[in-house]
Amino acid sequence: MATGAVEVLVLGAGIAGCALAYHLADRGVGPVALYDPRTPGAGATGRAAGIVTEQHWNRWDVEVTRESQSQYAELSARWDSSAYTVNGFVRWAHAAEALRALDAARSRLRSWGVRVDELDADGLAGHVPWGRFDDEPRGLWCPSDAVVTPSTIGEIYAEGARRAGAEFLLGTPMAAFGRRDDAWELETGGRVVRASSAVVAAGAWSKAILRSIGHPLPLAPYRTQAAVLRPSGGPEVFPSVHDIDVDVYARPEAKGRLLAGDGTRLVEVDPESFQTGADEQFVGHLADTFAHRFPGWADAELVRAWAGVCTSTPDRRPLVGPVPGAERLYAVVGFNGFGVMRAGGVAARLADLIASGGNREEERLRPVWPARFRPDHPAFSPRPGFTLDDGDDPRF
Ligand SMILES: Cc1cc2nc3c(=O)[nH]c(=O)nc-3n(C[C@H](O)[C@H](O)[C@H](O)COP(=O)(O)OP(=O)(O)OC[C@H]3O[C@@H](n4cnc5c(N)ncnc54)[C@H](O)[C@@H]3O)c2cc1C
Repeated sequence: MATGAVEVLVLGAGIAGCALAYHLADRGVGPVALYDPRTPGAGATGRAAGIVTEQHWNRWDVEVTRESQSQYAELSARWDSSAYTVNGFVRWAHAAEALRALDAARSRLRSWGVRVDELDADGLAGHVPWGRFDDEPRGLWCPSDAVVTPSTIGEIYAEGARRAGAEFLLGTPMAAFGRRDDAWELETGGRVVRASSAVVAAGAWSKAILRSIGHPLPLAPYRTQAAVLRPSGGPEVFPSVHDIDVDVYARPEAKGRLLAGDGTRLVEVDPESFQTGADEQFVGHLADTFAHRFPGWADAELVRAWAGVCTSTPDRRPLVGPVPGAERLYAVVGFNGFGVMRAGGVAARLADLIASGGNREEERLRPVWPARFRPDHPAFSPRPGFTLDDGDDPRF
């Protein structure tokens, strides 16, 4: 069997793995190999909505998203300008409890330097003229938020990594992966790749990989849904919107269409055998929401609907950095449904850590260090979402 040796082996060619390979190559770390049993973007990345927003619940996420956004703006300007659009993001609520959370979120966001404006019902109607706001909801508007095409951003990173010499091993099953004789060893497609360091960036599949090598991390894959619809008219580019009370979001898509979601199921699923189509219940919920809140979209025709698998962690922060107890093994997993907007920034920070050769704690990854959990962390239920709960955790 042919054997090759690399410096870093990245497992998973979603947006996180591709961004990491790109940033490693950019820092002169190599050789780098990136392995995926499918194709780039075959996981959550190819099924994501691609909303990029600074409306987060803590400062660390705001900073990381800002870094990602500036990478996406720069890369798409250079390679494919259709993959990135600044369209702004507006969220609103009517229920009293949600309004209190919205007010608290506004103050917090401003304290972190996020440009966010408050909107009353007239202001909302100004940004969302196809909506109905006669129940007087209030909202927040972030004019600099954006939408990206996640698979295209992933491809741009992948192509950049390839040009810088990274090798891609795609489309063959993983026959074996583990630690052997001071190296990480992957066997696939009749080849053996030995690596000084390995990074698990396999999205929802990471849980099983880490468990199989005796280094489990607390991860819970869960299913979430989205749909593309074609309204009969309206602007081609409009702000991304999120109705907090019913938890439905929408963003503009190419050719005058829109992409709407959420349909998140808070139960763990197996990424090898989840239901890839959307539920009737989800499509019905979208139709009800459109009829009530978006009369201008009420006649929108359903083009397609689907589900993807995201990965939750106990505290809704990703797990990024050295895997505790495993030599030269890193993880970049557990994005809790926000991996597109975090991937570029997180990958750059992890690449800095790996390039510096270390297990030393990287200050800029401290809030997401995997060692904050014990390997025997008890099972937990996924708790993702565009929530408004307070981010006042003093550690962050
Ligand atoms: C409907 C939906 C809407 C979303 N909307 C947004 C949004 O608006 N904004 C946002 O920021 N995020 C959004 N997300 C979340 C986002 O898609 C994910 O957080 C992000 O794509 C995770 O990227 P990843 O690279 O970590 O994982 P993935 O994209 O899942 O990639 C993991 C890769 O690992 C591969 N793999 C599997 N087994 C192995 C193995 N044994 N070895 C190596 N590789 C393996 C898979 O084939 C896959 O290609 C959404 C997700 C969904 C499903």
